[in-house]
Amino acid sequence: MTSSILPWQQPLWQNIQQVRQRNRLPHALLLTGHAGIGKAQFAAALAAALLCEKPLADATACGQCTACKQRLAGTMPDYRVLPSDTEKKLIPVSDVRALIEWMAIRSDAGRPKTVIIHQAENMNRSAANALLKILEEPYSDSLIMLLTAAPQFLPVTIRSRCQNLAFSLPEFDTSLRWLEQQKITAAAELLQMTEGAPLHALAFASSRLPEEIAALQTGFVGLLRQSSSPMQLAAEWEKQDLQRSLQWICRQLAMMACSQVASGYKQGLHHDLQQIAKTLDYKTLINMYDKTCDSVRLARGNVNARLLLEDLLLNFVTRIT
Ligand SMILES: [Zn+2]
Repeated sequence: MTSSILPWQQPLWQNIQQVRQRNRLPHALLLTGHAGIGKAQFAAALAAALLCEKPLADATACGQCTACKQRLAGTMPDYRVLPSDTEKKLIPVSDVRALIEWMAIRSDAGRPKTVIIHQAENMNRSAANALLKILEEPYSDSLIMLLTAAPQFLPVTIRSRCQNLAFSLPEFDTSLRWLEQQKITAAAELLQMTEGAPLHALAFASSRLPEEIAALQTGFVGLLRQSSSPMQLAAEWEKQDLQRSLQWICRQLAMMACSQVASGYKQGLHHDLQQIAKTLDYKTLINMYDKTCDSVRLARGNVNARLLLEDLLLNFVTRIT
């Protein structure tokens, strides 16, 4: 295991190292896959490894040599990242032209010219056409990595000249373990909210979201055990993001229903809710789920959050008693 490579990317890292050892690394890689799963980290680790003078046994960069120090200080002359201005979403043709001019100059240190283009789908047509020229006639010692979660928005001509490196969404349990190792609370709920993207979940963790989820969890368990008052809960939850709270309830009910039909199903479902699910019948859970979906739809309009929550939570109580 290496520290700079995320656990779910280890097999892909091993593969790319084998390709490197055979001197078969292409001049252009297209890194595709869901946002928030670590394509950027992988590309940065590969760039660092290519530029490093004394890579470690696992082929990652040492972090200590002159090249690594330059890269970490942002002064490495053989490494470029686009867009240069992270505030700008679009990648202008001027940036791509500057890149091509820079690539034409050989590295003084004999290092490969290494480029990362984030959100490559944001190149406009002229920028893509300019880049295409260098993909058609690449310099011998160079690597361009294009990253995208939406490859369908890249011209086919660009895609066809890159070797695709597809990143799949990590297994839920793998992401969960990793988040727990980072000491993230409410990791399962954060993962559900970010559709299983662990790095997005990690970013969310530094917000107030985990606290809000923990409050929802406690309140919802209390309600289903009939130890919390629906009116009091509605008053508390009214202060939170209504859509998010309702969608959270929807997901819990869906998972509780799943746990009844698929024995052993517990993906992200809190232990208390697993236990409660065993005491409720499937039809009740589905009815509660449907009612919550209706509330999600209503909440998109101009509604009184407190009244909507009271109506929903009272409805739950009448169904489970
Ligand atoms: Zn190094």
